[in-house]
Amino acid sequence: MTDAIPKDLRQIRACLSCSLIKTFEQFESDGCDNCDTFLGLRHNRDNIYDCTSTNFEGMVGMCKPEDSWVGKWQRINRFKTGVYAISVSGRLPQAVVRDMRASNINHRSRDTSKR
Ligand SMILES: [Zn+2]
Repeated sequence: MTDAIPKDLRQIRACLSCSLIKTFEQFESDGCDNCDTFLGLRHNRDNIYDCTSTNFEGMVGMCKPEDSWVGKWQRINRFKTGVYAISVSGRLPQAVVRDMRASNINHRSRDTSKR
């Protein structure tokens, strides 16, 4: 479970789809714990740059997402254990969003700053 927690704070990025925070290295070696089936971040630096952002606010540790009030509030209670950003600035590439829709994956922008 500690695998999902950033090892150092120098190169941390947040997933634009689920707002999971990890280091670039961790995204590169493991992908996103929640989204890698459709984002394909693992071993793909271009996708990591496109689908994660260094521009995010707030960090919430999620140890037991399923019964955490923070999880319910952030609507991430079905996500994996880890550290999540409260708001992530940026957008997933259109092509990725289209693929997600095609696979019936519900995408909600994590960017709460522009509303
Ligand atoms: Zn993700």
